[in-house]
Amino acid sequence: MFNYNSNNIFAKIIRQEIPVKKVYEDNQVLAFYDIKPEAPIHILVIPKQSYCNYTHFINQATSQEIAYFLQKVAEIANQQCPKGFRLITNNGSDALQTVEHFHMHILGGEKLGALIGI
Ligand code: AMP
Repeated sequence: MFNYNSNNIFAKIIRQEIPVKKVYEDNQVLAFYDIKPEAPIHILVIPKQSYCNYTHFINQATSQEIAYFLQKVAEIANQQCPKGFRLITNNGSDALQTVEHFHMHILGGEKLGALIGI
């Protein structure tokens, strides 16, 4: 059902074929600044394992992987956005997911506007 394509841009970032401004990295997780920020702080957090989207991650990652990833997202978000943050993950075409490697957006750095801008 899930067909991960290792030519996607985040796979290239993990392989260090494309440079990014890193916020955090360990052997399971990478966080970096979004190239087109939608808020003063806009960070993307990705697992290094190959998952297409949130559904793929939840269905196929181990409980340990899921817990570790979510803990890292919380740590990075609280460190970078101490006054609050919003987490977004776009899953599939209706959500306008553009990169088919699971990622969590962390947005903050100011009072954010409405939840969904149209
Ligand atoms: P999504 O629309 O949820 O799939 O989000 C993909 C995000 O990746 C967008 O916010 C893009 O701005 C961001 N993005 C794409 N290419 C790069 C890159 N080379 N470095 C950092 N962020 C990127």
